[in-house]
Amino acid sequence: AVSFFWFRRDLRLEDNLGLFQALQSQHPVIPLFIFDETILEPLPNNDPRVGFIHESLAAINTKLLEFGTSLLVKKGKPSEVWESLLNDYNIQEVYWNKDYEPNAIQRDLVVDNLLVSKGVTVLAFKDQVIFEEAEIVKADGLPYTVYTPFKNKWLEKYNSIAPVQEWDATPYFSNFFKSTFEFPSLGQIGFILSSIKVKPHNLKLVANYHETRDFPALDSTSYLSPHLRFGTVSIRKLVNWAVRKNPVFLSELIWREFFMQILFHFPKVKNRNFKSAYDGIEWRNDEADFKRWCEGKTGYPMVDAGMRQLNETGYMHNRVRMVVASFLCKHLLIEWQWGEAYFAEKLLDYEMAANVGNWQWAAGTGCDAAPYFRVFNPEIQQKKFDEKGIYIRQWIAEFDLGYGQPMVEHAMARDRAIATYKAGIVK
Ligand code: FAD
Repeated sequence: AVSFFWFRRDLRLEDNLGLFQALQSQHPVIPLFIFDETILEPLPNNDPRVGFIHESLAAINTKLLEFGTSLLVKKGKPSEVWESLLNDYNIQEVYWNKDYEPNAIQRDLVVDNLLVSKGVTVLAFKDQVIFEEAEIVKADGLPYTVYTPFKNKWLEKYNSIAPVQEWDATPYFSNFFKSTFEFPSLGQIGFILSSIKVKPHNLKLVANYHETRDFPALDSTSYLSPHLRFGTVSIRKLVNWAVRKNPVFLSELIWREFFMQILFHFPKVKNRNFKSAYDGIEWRNDEADFKRWCEGKTGYPMVDAGMRQLNETGYMHNRVRMVVASFLCKHLLIEWQWGEAYFAEKLLDYEMAANVGNWQWAAGTGCDAAPYFRVFNPEIQQKKFDEKGIYIRQWIAEFDLGYGQPMVEHAMARDRAIATYKAGIVK
């Protein structure tokens, strides 16, 4: 008889609660990863995120080999993979860490039903966040839809348990199933390496974060986002550390949980407005305008630099993400779902909760969003946050030669946006 630990978006051996619990099982534990065909199927074969997952799994496998065990890697539809594992092994228990995205919840429900129907015990743990589900709710039990009171409650609860417990499973590694499963190459999964790479995260930058984070040329944020997305870093370790280092940085980690809770409690936000009063806005949705935005050819240097950074590196600085998102929704009157989908395709740190939360914030359709009549002026944003054009020159080689005409004039676009929103909002 064996138990399984199923890795998903928690690709680390260190401080991994589900893994820690699995290794307390009475049975030898097989560590498993499934390349999910449903997710991989629409991706180009050089998607850098698949390369990053593969690299992270290889690091885990190398470490496991030191302990006489190895990772079992499968490719397929999770429920079908589990069907075949049920035939191959006498499985007693399956452990995993919870994932709160709507598709993941559905996937886990199907697998859970299958396993339970075969008499297997399934144990799921909170690992992706400090607080989940109904842990941070208002006095009346309803979820928060405004960030600041959510954050206050979050801090109060954190302070009552701080530091949050970390789970070192190393002393139990002898409980792994002794195995030498063959570790597949990226090619065997059907992918090739991309020239776009995830940067290592950099926590040294966080000391002056509150002063520098808004200036894209300073390169001063942590680059943690893909690591948090795929769980190569533990949120518990990070928060216990951030609390001592920088409260502004900690607030960003709380934004991450805020949007995760919004998606969990209001799953419709994944493709629909949080505020349905905004459903009647008459978007222009012009395909040619959208293409210029995607390619970074709007004629606004800050917008174009951001889009080119995204296209070339899979990353964009947060301030610039806000500027390009506002520009798409307000200046071009293209609905946020188009921009959200483009980001989902390109961002190494793409995460549904953060992406839809921030897009809806920019569009003014979300919870606790920017008011609809606030329209960023891309030129003023540039003056404020990249006065010397250092960031812009990194991405726009032709900048000094005199940059092209803006595709829409700001004052006209601003008035048009406000009028269109006003006319479309249901009172
Ligand atoms: P840091 O500034 O060092 O922040 C540390 C961590 O805090 C981040 O890694 C992230 O986990 C969290 N965080 C910071 N800002 C936010 C925020 N506004 N919302 C939620 N979490 C935050 N972030 C994603 O992780 N995935 C996305 O798909 C995503 N899409 C976005 C779309 C738009 C339109 C905007 C405006 C922002 C989006 N963000 C997204 C949030 C933010 O831009 C990135 O988290 C940040 O730029 C990542 O760089 P960093 O790790 O160096 O950030």
